[in-house]
Amino acid sequence: MDRLYKPSKLSEILSKYGFRFTKSLGQNFLIDGNIVRKIVDVAEISEEDNVVEIGPGVGTLTEELALRAKKVVAVEIDEKLRELHKETLNIENVKVIYGDFLDLDLKKLTKEEFGDEDFKVVANLPYYVTTPIIEKLILAKVNLISITVMVQREVAKRLSAEPGSKDYGSLSVFINYYTDCKYKFQVPSSVFMPKPNVDSAVVNLKMINREEIDTEFLFKVVRASFNTRRKTILNSLSNSKLNYTKEEIKRALELSGIDERRRAETLKLEEFIILSVNFKSVG
Ligand code: SAM
Repeated sequence: MDRLYKPSKLSEILSKYGFRFTKSLGQNFLIDGNIVRKIVDVAEISEEDNVVEIGPGVGTLTEELALRAKKVVAVEIDEKLRELHKETLNIENVKVIYGDFLDLDLKKLTKEEFGDEDFKVVANLPYYVTTPIIEKLILAKVNLISITVMVQREVAKRLSAEPGSKDYGSLSVFINYYTDCKYKFQVPSSVFMPKPNVDSAVVNLKMINREEIDTEFLFKVVRASFNTRRKTILNSLSNSKLNYTKEEIKRALELSGIDERRRAETLKLEEFIILSVNFKSVG
């Protein structure tokens, strides 16, 4: 039987069900078996794994996941795919849920589907909601082991950026706090139907268990630090919404061993953590 990533097979299915692409839903479907297999390889999916996929589309990636995983739960916003899925995703270990992933109670769903077992996320994400989806996954407090996703290349660079690089910003620090994020490989636009206008890349994020700290305040400090990227950390923090005087900011920086003339983009996660802790003692 032909696999869904075969362009002729995909076109046949799409026309059989009269499917029309909805650009605003980020519908660019994979048509390359090597890329599909590479994504699942990066995610290290084996028969013991439970998987959540966001946006199965026709089911190209879902099909490969189903072959390798124990169980796949796929969440698709586009109800128009329901009939088509009865043909493409009529697979024993696959369950499709219809709805907006951002509105979904992930804790409830994964408890119902996987009990207390862990799960991994694998997806070719709709690019218009990449960051909210990743943030939701990270903050959901569920038994999530890792996230392997295809995203816009620019976003992949920001997610995995190291201090000192031009892509490093508050998103990189947030991701670096909660995960070990690795940029895996670049993907040309030619492997999608229809072709997107941007290049893509696959990233792998392994969840990290950290000691509980006041993360709300930590990320307030991080955002304030990147407020004015080109300015020194002292000026950036002084001109931000953080409620501290310039003297208090100087003191917190000094206590943290951070030169006030440095820029936010040079600060490592550990320095942001120390700084946020020291702010509490100067205020
Ligand atoms: N996985 C398929 C593939 O690789 O060929 C399709 C990927 S396509 C880039 C993104 C998919 O996400 C589409 O099927 C789209 O309808 C779906 N989608 C878009 N927004 C969504 C949302 N908020 N929640 C769940 N699915 C969504």
